[in-house]
Amino acid sequence: MSNTSPIYIAGEPFPLAPGMEQTHPFFPNRHRAVLEALVARGVLSAKAIRKASPLAMSSVAHLVSRQLMEQLASEEGLRKAMIAPEGCGDLRQMYLPPALAAAGASVAALRAAWRGGFGLHLGGGFHHASRNGAEGFCLLPDITLAIDSLRQQEKGRRLRVMVIDLDAHHANGVAADFAKDEDTYLFDVFNKDIYPKGMKPKMAAGKRIFLPSLCGDAEYLAKLGKALDGALAKFMPDVVIYNAGADVLAGDPLGKLGLSKEGLAARDEMVVGKVRQHCPRLCMMMGGGYTEGAAGAVADSLENLHRKFGLFKPQPTSRLLSPAYRAR
Ligand SMILES: [Zn+2]
Repeated sequence: MSNTSPIYIAGEPFPLAPGMEQTHPFFPNRHRAVLEALVARGVLSAKAIRKASPLAMSSVAHLVSRQLMEQLASEEGLRKAMIAPEGCGDLRQMYLPPALAAAGASVAALRAAWRGGFGLHLGGGFHHASRNGAEGFCLLPDITLAIDSLRQQEKGRRLRVMVIDLDAHHANGVAADFAKDEDTYLFDVFNKDIYPKGMKPKMAAGKRIFLPSLCGDAEYLAKLGKALDGALAKFMPDVVIYNAGADVLAGDPLGKLGLSKEGLAARDEMVVGKVRQHCPRLCMMMGGGYTEGAAGAVADSLENLHRKFGLFKPQPTSRLLSPAYRAR
């Protein structure tokens, strides 16, 4: 048996379509750079890395609305969601396979967390997409699909899932998808001044923390720490999905917050430490991050998590029944 939890990557990286650099500060291979850094530093063994199978469009169709399927079939719908300029080429051919591959990796990482205590998708966290629509560079709601697939797999069991979304943007897709689901809790910390502005009246149960632009380490960590303990203790999740966006870093052209790379590592350490006190299963996804230094900062943070918590080592199975789950 391997002594390392499986780490998933999507089999197909997102390409940079011609002209897309005008509308999005893409760094399509950021997650591969993180992976290579972790392997080079000896934090991860190359053997632990799995390429997840992409989801089939037919299985996605069972879980999302017809409206989203129609949008994904239309060039115009895709162009709008990807904020792509005219003449970018065949967006469907370019972006649907990597979106299906990324969703497959999120599904696999959550299942790994469910089985073994920890799962990581070095990518994912497309939190602006919902079952009803693609937007904000997010074509498929991979977080929703992962939760729905796990619930399908565990049929008949009531699973309490907490999504801790610390990407700099509001997780509007996740908030909409679980608006009527009391077993899914969204803990969402984001810059209130950037896309998507405004809140829908019906949103998932949970906690929203609004940050001002350029918010730095001290204010960020104080607000996060104060609220997260209470949320975890109150909700008692069976599994946590942590969308650890690195677009909170200072200088990020989209996130517009002000964390240092040490602040990013402290944030991740705080989250994993608190989750470990309350919940035995954690699935991490990477979210956004568009600065030159994002890959290095994420690799440093994951290395720190591994050194502090043995993050990539499987958990003893005795830990895997959370108090809430045992009580049901
Ligand atoms: Zn973001």
